[in-house]
Amino acid sequence: MATMIIESERTKAASGKTYEVRNPATGEVVDEVPFGDVADVDRAAQAAAKAFTTWSKLAPNKRAEILHKAARNMLAKVEEIAPILTKEQGKTLLESRIEAQRFGENIAWFADLADKVHGEHVALPDTTTYGLVVRRPIGVCGAIVPWNFPLTLAANKVAPAIAAGNTVVLKPASTTPLATLACIEALIEGGLPEGVVNVVLGPATGDAIVGHPLIRKIALTGSTPTGRKVMARAAEALKKVTLELGGSDPCIVLDDADLEAAARAISVGRFFNCGQACLAVKRLYVQEAAYAPLMEKLVARASKLKPGNGLDKDSRMGPMHTETQRAEVEAQVKDAVDRGAKLLYGGGRPKGAEYEKGWFIEPAILENVPDGARMWTEEVFGPALPVRKIKDLDEGLRLANDSQFGLGSSIWTGNMAAARRAVSELEAGYTWVNALQIAHDELPFGGTKQSGFGKEHGVEAFLQYTEEKSVVYGGV
Ligand code: NAD
Repeated sequence: MATMIIESERTKAASGKTYEVRNPATGEVVDEVPFGDVADVDRAAQAAAKAFTTWSKLAPNKRAEILHKAARNMLAKVEEIAPILTKEQGKTLLESRIEAQRFGENIAWFADLADKVHGEHVALPDTTTYGLVVRRPIGVCGAIVPWNFPLTLAANKVAPAIAAGNTVVLKPASTTPLATLACIEALIEGGLPEGVVNVVLGPATGDAIVGHPLIRKIALTGSTPTGRKVMARAAEALKKVTLELGGSDPCIVLDDADLEAAARAISVGRFFNCGQACLAVKRLYVQEAAYAPLMEKLVARASKLKPGNGLDKDSRMGPMHTETQRAEVEAQVKDAVDRGAKLLYGGGRPKGAEYEKGWFIEPAILENVPDGARMWTEEVFGPALPVRKIKDLDEGLRLANDSQFGLGSSIWTGNMAAARRAVSELEAGYTWVNALQIAHDELPFGGTKQSGFGKEHGVEAFLQYTEEKSVVYGGV
């Protein structure tokens, strides 16, 4: 049975309760884990607060050295960790390997910043004084993570937090705790001091983290409704929050685009991770002359995405993570079809004995999806893509911005002026121009509108795990 990680203890829940983690491809039990609650979060927060007193005072170059060593130890275990992630989450082994690799690389990327980001000197009017702005870690930080990318989304929070000298109470999604535990254990084995990152498990631990008085900042990746609840609860104690929430990323393809490259990026953008991605291509707007050739290429690509158990090497798309999640996407596709949309590809469940026990679904591409259909107005968190023909860039930009969300966006065109307009007018935290939707470590990532606020990745994320303090030295 897996256990929580609280300081040096590998511990069960105080209540003794447990729950099962199941494989979305087979329904089999992967492991039993502690069902933690407020009491466990309290122990973890106390442990993190104790660790903060030493971790925050370490010389930053020493912190960097420890984190690099810990990351190397974790990266040496990618092949061990990837199958654990596939079994609990459903994604293919290739996708799990990429994710586990990104976890370790992210820790190393932020370790590099630990002794490089600094405050500043400010000249003051009285020349016998001088001013400084110093940056200090915040304290204990809460990290709350969803199930779609359990490792990268945990690293996005843990890596900048600990590099800046904070300590963490981390809560993975209830259905995907196991690979996260393995990653944190590997960091500790590689030299990360006990108590710097603590892991609590169970659905009730999220709210307990947000409400705990010792925890000073909350970083959540989750749905928009959860973001609203977390922000309201965090407001009670005036905690800082970073909210990475839902998205419905538009993609515009103009007639002069490189359609082969666009088709590849759209296919990866929509179908990677069985469509369960925040940054993705979720609404596609295509100019008239590009429409038919692009659809042909997209259908050809979708037809090669063989669904299957993520552990089988010929599977190209794992199952959906849960039954509810699959039912939601199927209902969104049905709503579009009932309103008159046409399925260009897929839209059902794959047939065969190997699919009967898992939450498998075929990739789907739909055209003529009418205005007001759920696929346009809601987040589609699965492998289904609504497509619409547009006359020109004006229409594309208007439709792209007609959404409550503002996470990512992309445009494919050979025209620099069109690209420039899209960059300035698309209401989103990220715009890719003729490029695959990869969230780079180097660039700040975060949404606008109902997709949340605050940044992960980049120097900006590191800064958000520090507080500035002004200092005046007199009589100098
Ligand atoms: P969710 O909001 O249901 O849960 C996310 C996490 O929050 C889980 O660990 C959950 O236990 C916890 N949680 C739920 N209610 C809480 C509460 N009241 N207080 C504290 N914690 C609480 O989301 P999900 O279904 O696990 O994940 C899918 C959602 O995440 C999608 O909307 C997706 O777009 C979004 N997402 C966003 C990004 C991004 O970076 N913007 C990345 C990936 C996923």
